[in-house]
Amino acid sequence: MTVTEIILSKPYTARHMAASSRLFEICHECASLVDDFLASTSEKSLRKDTQKQVQQSISIIKTALSQHGPKETALSFNGGKDCLVMLILYLASLYMMYKDTPERIEELGLISSVYVEGHHAFPEVEDFVKECNEKYGLDTVKYESPMKDSFAQYLTYRPHIKAILAGIRRADPYGDTLEFIQETDHGWPKFVRVHPVLEWHYVEVWDFLLTLKIPYCSLYDLGYTSLGKQSNTARNPCLETEETDAKGSPVYLPAYRLNDDDKERLGRLQ
Ligand code: FAD
Ligand code: MG
Repeated sequence: MTVTEIILSKPYTARHMAASSRLFEICHECASLVDDFLASTSEKSLRKDTQKQVQQSISIIKTALSQHGPKETALSFNGGKDCLVMLILYLASLYMMYKDTPERIEELGLISSVYVEGHHAFPEVEDFVKECNEKYGLDTVKYESPMKDSFAQYLTYRPHIKAILAGIRRADPYGDTLEFIQETDHGWPKFVRVHPVLEWHYVEVWDFLLTLKIPYCSLYDLGYTSLGKQSNTARNPCLETEETDAKGSPVYLPAYRLNDDDKERLGRLQ
């Protein structure tokens, strides 16, 4: 293991042994949540759109799993809202695919996951990644090198990993030309990248998380709509209110009050 590589929480083998049947239960719970969501109704037409997104994402994940299998698949998880949706749908898909052969899930023990922390990360993001690591049975390996180097180190450390899921959406930089499943390019280490939530819109992400009451990173309640580094991320100016807090600073509405995909990254300074 390199010096920049840190495994979150307890050593893998100890957690792995304790976790195997728990992971099946976690997947089962996520599948029940997804079923609840698909059965839910709302006066807003948004709900039907989000339900279609859920079905499409599950189909993409199942295709990826049928090509590479759960042992060869990892998640790229940075605690953001998009990869949180992806995580829930991934765990639900595992249950849907392997509910009759639970050993396929139990033998994983934990879900392989990569978090590139980088410099100037928000402590709230770091805390949320740790919380998810425990709650959802992840085996998160954290790196502090640039993204490409971090993934290269990860593949050296876990050479059996062939496919990595990322919560990139069309609205993200370079998202407009991506496919659901494709090989890496532009000097990235070689693996298959999977983008299950590529077509999701901002409001659909919040419809899913809020309807199912899935806990998310606390920064979203403070008016951040897209989380990067502390040095390049501010609250979204569209959410600023005329109210001030006890210190005289402006109060912002929570992220889920924004209605427009195009305005999501207005708090990103570069
Ligand atoms: P965000 O909305 O912040 O992130 C989108 C998603 O990327 C997140 O949901 C999460 O799943 C993942 N992610 C982002 N930051 C981190 C992090 N610090 N730690 C862990 N996961 C993170 N570009 C290419 O040109 N060619 C490639 O082959 C290529 N392969 C990639 C493979 C992976 C797994 C990832 C994560 C990125 C890859 N990229 C590649 C870069 C990608 O296309 C986008 O430029 C970038 O992810 C957008 O990140 P963002 O911070 O702007 O968006
Ligand atoms: Mg995003």
